[in-house]
Amino acid sequence: MMLKIFQAPPRELTHQKIFARIGKFLVEHGLCPSPENYSLVYQLVVDSDSAVSREVKRLVSDGIRLSQPEADRIRSEFGIGAKTAAEAEPVDDAALAAAKLLLQQFAETVEQARVETELYGRDLEQGAAALETAGPEAGLGSLIRITGAILERTRTAERRLVQAESETQTLRRQLSEMVEEARRDPLTGLANRRAFEDRCRELDLEGIQVAVAICDIDHFKLINDGHGHVVGDRVLKMMAKRLQRACAGHMVARLGGEEFVILFEGLTAVEAGDLVDKARRSLMRRDFVLRGTGERIGQVTFSAGIACCADGAVQALMRADELLYEAKNSGRNRIRVDE
Ligand code: GH3
Ligand code: MG
Ligand code: MG
Repeated sequence: MMLKIFQAPPRELTHQKIFARIGKFLVEHGLCPSPENYSLVYQLVVDSDSAVSREVKRLVSDGIRLSQPEADRIRSEFGIGAKTAAEAEPVDDAALAAAKLLLQQFAETVEQARVETELYGRDLEQGAAALETAGPEAGLGSLIRITGAILERTRTAERRLVQAESETQTLRRQLSEMVEEARRDPLTGLANRRAFEDRCRELDLEGIQVAVAICDIDHFKLINDGHGHVVGDRVLKMMAKRLQRACAGHMVARLGGEEFVILFEGLTAVEAGDLVDKARRSLMRRDFVLRGTGERIGQVTFSAGIACCADGAVQALMRADELLYEAKNSGRNRIRVDE
């Protein structure tokens, strides 16, 4: 005979009982086994005579289930237990946290509505059973009470769904704004590297041939050093506007620093080069003076590499980068086109 070495101590058995009772309560009442619900029911199980237990007993008399909104209300009134994920999470990005919270609330509302609907049948069956066992008069009273409670809950669920629907619309708008923002360069308002790379991949997948230009401001560091970072930023904004105007209809993005990139769909490298060179010539003719202070910045120029590649936009970008390097090395303020 095998020795029973791992016999659970009585304390463990008590824990098992508590656990089983909590589980039984949650299942019977159609409540999800979330940490919040668990901590509420734990209170009921370990102290059946506490104020919390009395409040719950009052609500569940007549065989009516404890609904999720009621459980939440009691938990918050009596300050019980675990915090929700949203409460516990450090808010590093307010908009994202709000969106997450709305999403979580919506999912909970939908789940509650589903559970409520599923369990109405059971409540009604109990009422019908009471009608049979307790006779028409007592049974009818119980059935009326149950029906009243169900009606009240249906109305609450309806209100919550209407509210959830409007919150979902807000959430959808906020999310699309956030997605849009994540793809934009905050300084210039242009598409950023991520948006540009995504578009390159899309074009490559669709097999659309494009010409790619990389433009880099010449000696930009000198502008920063001579006039300060704020002036440097203004030059970057000015450059962004000029490229957008000169290459209207094509995607202009800021790759980072003083480097801009343009995707010319449906143009050859030479056609794209003509547009970029027009922008370069127009820029070099300007003599920049700071509005307000009258401080003279002088000429701002850029160099560019332009390429088109049968292997796709990503390859064209690499080739354009090599050509930019050549343009810089051969004196700056010029373009190099892959012909
Ligand atoms: P080159 O003609 O060879 O391109 O020389 P450059 O001075 O333009 O290039 P370099 O890479 O030496 O310097 C780029 C500078 O751009 C350095 C960096 O501080 C500055 N920079 C990068 N991002 C920003 C920005 O957002 N704002 C400002 N004002 N400066 C920036
Ligand atoms: Mg530069
Ligand atoms: Mg650079």
